[in-house]
Parts: sequence; structure tokens; C-alpha cells
Amino acid sequence: MSTSFELLKKAVLENRLAHLLLLYGSGAKERFNAVLELAAMLNCIKDIKPCGECPACKKIKSGSHPDIYCLQPLKTSIGIEQILALQEKIYRKIYEGKYRICVIDEADKLTLAAANALLKIAEEPPAQTIIILSCGNIEAIIPTLRSRAQAIYLPSPPLTEWKDEAEAFSLSGGDPDLARKIQEFGVEKMKDLLQSYLEIIQTGDFLKVFALFPALEKEDYLTFTQALAVTVKDMISKGALSPIFLSEIGKTLELLKKQVNNRLALEVLALKHISYGGNRID
Ligand SMILES: [Zn+2]
Repeated sequence: MSTSFELLKKAVLENRLAHLLLLYGSGAKERFNAVLELAAMLNCIKDIKPCGECPACKKIKSGSHPDIYCLQPLKTSIGIEQILALQEKIYRKIYEGKYRICVIDEADKLTLAAANALLKIAEEPPAQTIIILSCGNIEAIIPTLRSRAQAIYLPSPPLTEWKDEAEAFSLSGGDPDLARKIQEFGVEKMKDLLQSYLEIIQTGDFLKVFALFPALEKEDYLTFTQALAVTVKDMISKGALSPIFLSEIGKTLELLKKQVNNRLALEVLALKHISYGGNRID
């Protein structure tokens, strides 16, 4: 059972917080801010927490609090050596805070060995220590770890909070991480690319496919494909495309996460989409 962030804050105030939490949903930045808010509530020395003014609150805000640790993947995964290094620190005496907070960012990247080492820690939790696993998709977390942690769902911020970035946010289908990547790539450029792609698969002009993706950055192929998935899903829900278009995109997304020739993978996708006929509905 997962709980909401609001209920979690209530648990903090009532001093009944689990020591292994799993924060999922929304975007990486939103989750990190939620962790900071939680850390401040746990360590604030004033009555109304977090006050934002006391030394603990200030240090947490500026990222200089000695009892807050953040673990991130080295390259593609979080290995057992990282968990063992963390373990060595967290059984020591706490420096100055009331609580030590260990955030494990992109917790879906924990190797099996690392996850098992973490489970061992959870069996004998160090005093005054909260371990927070953070990830976008809870399904991607190793099941034994998922079942041990108190899950907290963080919803995406509403469209109204995005102001200048509202267009990127709506192109992302409400995914803050994707919205930021689209913003970086350029909203207009992304809209043009999506438009051209859809025109080509509808007209079936396959020669144009090869002019479609002039050497994008590696990361941009993935961003484009994720944005395409959002647009296509929307078209399917309106009955304008067959669901088969989306399942092909899913396969391409898997390929792009591996070491493949990205441009080729997308051109193959476009040719498959053309072969389905742009408007065909099963
Ligand atoms: Zn404070």
C-alpha cells in the first residue's frame, strides 16, 4: 500500500516514520525537493517544522548538512560497493542532526547484490536513520525491496505550475523529467520534428525518412521517441491510430536504452509505421 506525501509528513510530526521509504512518481527534481522537505522536517529545531530559518533547515537547503547522504548510480548501476560504503558510515554516531537521511537516487538501478545488502541494513536499521529509495517507476524496483519499504507516491505537479514551460509539460504527457528534456531540446524544434514524422508516416513518403533525423545527440533520440509515444498514445485514444503504432514505439524505446545505432533504430521505426499505413485503425 502506498501513502501520500501529505500523510507521510503527518507521520513525521507524530514521530512514527518507517526507516525504509520508497518515494516514487513525478520527476527527479520534484522527488529531491520532497526529500529535502522531509529532511528539514526531521531535523528542524523549531516547533513549526520546517521553519526554513534554523541552522539545520539552512544547511539542508544549501546541501551542506553532514547527516544527509545521496547515492547515485556510477555509470549505469548502483553497485554493492556503494551500499557497503554507505553501510560503514551509517552505523557510526550521527554528526549533528536529529536524523540521518540517506537518499538512493534512481533506486531502480540497484544491482541485485546491492539491493540484498540494503535489505540486510533494513533488518538491523541504524539508529536515527531514514533510508529513502527514489525512482520514477515503482515497478522497476526489485520486488523484495519494494515489499519491505513504505511506498510514498508523489504526483506530478499540475499544468498550472509550469507557466513558461507549460507547452513542454503538455508535450511530455505530464512527465516532469521528459518535460525538462524537451525544454532543453527546444519545444518548437520538437513540435516540428513530431509533425514531420507524423506527416511522413501518413503520406508514406519513405524517402523523407532518411532526412528526418539529421544527427541528433544520443540523448535526443530517446527524448524524441518518448515524446512520440505521448503523441501517439493521445492519437490512439482519439481513435486516430491503431494501438500497434504504440507497441512498436515501446520496442524501439527498449532498443534505444541499449547500445544501438539510434538513428537507424528510429528510421526502422518510421519505416514500420509507414508499412502500417498512417491512418489505419484495426
Ligand atoms: Zn528549522
